Parts: sequence; structure tokens; C-alpha cells
Amino acid sequence: MSAYRLTTKRRQFVELLEQANTPLSAYEIIDRYNEQFDARVLAPSAYRILNSLIEAGFVHRLETCNKYVACAHETDQCCDDAAPQFFICDRCDVVQELHIPSRLVHELRDSGAAHGFEVRYPQIELHGVCRDCAEPAGGAAA
Ligand SMILES: [Zn+2]
Ligand SMILES: [Zn+2]
Repeated sequence: MSAYRLTTKRRQFVELLEQANTPLSAYEIIDRYNEQFDARVLAPSAYRILNSLIEAGFVHRLETCNKYVACAHETDQCCDDAAPQFFICDRCDVVQELHIPSRLVHELRDSGAAHGFEVRYPQIELHGVCRDCAEPAGGAAA
């Protein structure tokens, strides 16, 4: 157990992301934070907080959207062997977080190694359509 200190500000960032239904960009986070807590957090300090929360496993950055989400799991579980896997709905932006089974992470690492490549960051982001958005009643003409 690492003794990561969740300062008030860090905790508020996590809460803010947990309240959001969809991933937020850094600037959306800053706007909401300043509004909600009547504060004036600036971009450099917001990025510092976000990076520190990512390292500690409380928050993930979706590279394909350039947005942030709160980790859906107990923080300890998202480190080490497991790597996060995201299903991202391109219609409503809703994100589901799962874990890539560690067997698969090992296979990805092995496959990298077989090609002389060291996988250091096995997070997977899959884009598609969630069940709600896929309903024909949704009205979207395919
Ligand atoms: Zn996670
Ligand atoms: Zn959707």
C-alpha cells in the first residue's frame, strides 16, 4: 500500500470526474472546478494534479479522445498486472472501463517482445456504439 495523499484539491478533482457521465477535457475540468468550488485553479496546476492522479491510478487519460475519466475500480486494482480497457461510445461519449485480462496483457507483451518491441503502456481504447445508442428506436439512420 503506497501512502498517496489525496489532498482536498485532488479529491475534489476525482469527485468532479466521478460526477460527470462522460469523460472531460482538461479545460472542462478546470471550468467545472472553478465554478463548483468558487476557485481559480489554473491550467498548469490542473495538469499537475491530473498527472499525479493518473500515476496514482485514480484517473485515466483517454489518449484517443484527449480526455480524462475517474477510474471505475478500486485504485489498487488498476495497477500492476491489470491494464485498463475502455469501450467508448462515439455517439453519447459514455465510457465503460474494464480490465484487460492479465493473460491478454502478457500475450500483448510477448507479441511485442517477439517483434523487438517493449510494451510499456498496454491501455486499450475501443471505439464503437453502446447498447442504448445502437437501438433502432434511437432514430439514427445508419
Ligand atoms: Zn481504472
Ligand atoms: Zn452511446
